[in-house]
Amino acid sequence: MKTVKDIPNLKDKKVLLRVDFDMALNQQLTINNQPSSSVSHGARIAEPFRVEKQKLMIDYLIEHDAKVVMVAHLGDTGEFAPLIPQLHMLLGREIAFLKSIEEIPAYLENYAGPALLENIRRFPGEKENDEELAQKLSSGLDIYINNAFAVCHRKHASVSAVTKFLPSYAGFLVEEEIAKLGQAIDAPAEEKVIIMGGVKAETKAPVIKNLIDNADKILLSGVIANDIAKARGEDIGRSVVDDNINKILSNLDIASPKLVLPVDYIMAENRRLDIGEKTIAMYREVINSAKTIIWNGPMGVFEKDEFSAGTKLVAQAVADSSAIKIIGGGDTIAAVNRFSIPLEKFTFVSTGGGAMLAFLAGERLSGLEALGYYADK
Ligand code: ADP
Ligand code: MG
Repeated sequence: MKTVKDIPNLKDKKVLLRVDFDMALNQQLTINNQPSSSVSHGARIAEPFRVEKQKLMIDYLIEHDAKVVMVAHLGDTGEFAPLIPQLHMLLGREIAFLKSIEEIPAYLENYAGPALLENIRRFPGEKENDEELAQKLSSGLDIYINNAFAVCHRKHASVSAVTKFLPSYAGFLVEEEIAKLGQAIDAPAEEKVIIMGGVKAETKAPVIKNLIDNADKILLSGVIANDIAKARGEDIGRSVVDDNINKILSNLDIASPKLVLPVDYIMAENRRLDIGEKTIAMYREVINSAKTIIWNGPMGVFEKDEFSAGTKLVAQAVADSSAIKIIGGGDTIAAVNRFSIPLEKFTFVSTGGGAMLAFLAGERLSGLEALGYYADK
């Protein structure tokens, strides 16, 4: 896999930069439970973390006199135009806005600073990995850089097909994510603890299957814990479980003592909605003696105060631990923000939700494949 440092000379190179600006938006003018530095009055971007993580790459390219056109998505239909002033503020530089792909070559001829194309998913063919779209996107460009780790599990035109038309390189953030997540995967199994909660158990079970042999303990909560508890024959009341538990848990030794389930819960309407006091104490003890921690997924329905203690106390224990601590997941980061724990307390906060889980599960990410990552391994 070639990286930005392999580009011989960036001066006047026309760079198509795939960034990740897929952010939580807030339509209201006031935002609660956010560090005040991360929002401005009237902000619409509720969580600027992903934008801030692009700054290093953008700054580097500009300092090296490259001409930069950025491509990103904002959900399937979001529009970037109203966010340009805030992107300007977060990135510390003006960003031009290009409404159509046809405008790119002309803009580059009269280049006046970095530009962002409208949400790429609003153009037909992005999600189909359409080569025609990829070719159109590449015309007038010299180089493609993928700095959007969070979409690397997507076989989309601006992530995958585009690499057929331009010399392609991994950006700093893609490199960093691979290195930090790889470091966590490869860390010695003894004293490596994985904490998994939240919902979407079908995306989390593969991570557990891949890492269980290379971890000491897996502390569980949320739907994946409910699934395993049910499979072990526990009465879990009306707690949320998946319909296809057998499929989700196939090839997983559910009796393994490494899989640690909660021992008590905060219940409502016969549902398990948070871990209880004993579990919190037990999980915190395990966390305190870990040397490597990977955490994804809240311990309970943290959005409601009455079910937030488990997530809050586990988050604080992870933040205070001296271990290498890697966290990720949109709601996990939202929870950490809600409890006003600075993201700097963690060794690494992944920008990837699904992409991080896929990487930790040992899956081949098509975006990385397109960059030649697996060919070189
Ligand atoms: P992430 O985005 O960090 O990967 P998920 O999306 O998997 O996390 O899960 C986040 C959601 O899980 C939160 O909205 C939270 O309310 C919910 N959740 C956590 N524990 C439970 C539970 N026991 N029952 C139902 N929902 C839960
Ligand atoms: Mg989520």
